[in-house]
Amino acid sequence: MTRRKLVAGNWKMHGVSADLTEVTSIALAAETADADVALCLPATLIERAVRAAPGFAIGGQDVHQNEKGAHTGCISAAMLLDAGARLTIVGHSERREAQGESDADVKAKAEAALAAGLSVILCVGESDAIREAGKAVETVAAQLDASLPGSVAEASRFSVAYEPIWAIGTGKVPSTADIDEMHTALRARLVAAFGDAGSEVRILYGGSVKASNAVEIFAVPDVDGALVGGASLKATDFLPIVEAAS
Ligand code: PEP
Repeated sequence: MTRRKLVAGNWKMHGVSADLTEVTSIALAAETADADVALCLPATLIERAVRAAPGFAIGGQDVHQNEKGAHTGCISAAMLLDAGARLTIVGHSERREAQGESDADVKAKAEAALAAGLSVILCVGESDAIREAGKAVETVAAQLDASLPGSVAEASRFSVAYEPIWAIGTGKVPSTADIDEMHTALRARLVAAFGDAGSEVRILYGGSVKASNAVEIFAVPDVDGALVGGASLKATDFLPIVEAAS
């Protein structure tokens, strides 16, 4: 099974209008890349980024599971689509931790986004305490099982991102053997859940991916791309990672 790699940037709470030049530079290079490329931007930038880089995949960083209603500060899938977004992250550890999102919330968000027509990147990952306790694989596999949408009609619109919490923004990266072990386990869970479609779902690695480690990480068999935080903010940092995936 050949899966085209996906390199997605997560700008988190970074970026104002002046940074749209980074989006246009990345979008231009993405036109000739041999990998799918996307940027998940702050909601305030989505519509302007779509106008500045038509044809390029812009996404959100979260979505509410409901279509509409009294949810102050939240954004629905329809709103993301209306702004021109094509995808969204769900279940990032920063939201699971700071906003108290449960696996059930993440599952509902993934289902709402997929049903509306968005692509979804669903994040899972363990804390350093869990890794130290030797329980990373069983914990993340259970987290995935509980967060997965009920079905994935189009596997190309659904990706999982394995992001060890202790590797996010820290410069620490698991060994390729540990990444391999985790991605192999997650692949087995996806196939158990979705049958053949589970082998088409892309599993991204996320956590301190940089130009200097991307080639090695992308060489791991079940690594189908990356979710990149800090190194996605500047085209000069991000494009070498895209190149490594191509
Ligand atoms: C992230 O937050 O999704 C992430 C992977 O961040 P960083 O690349 O900065 O570790």
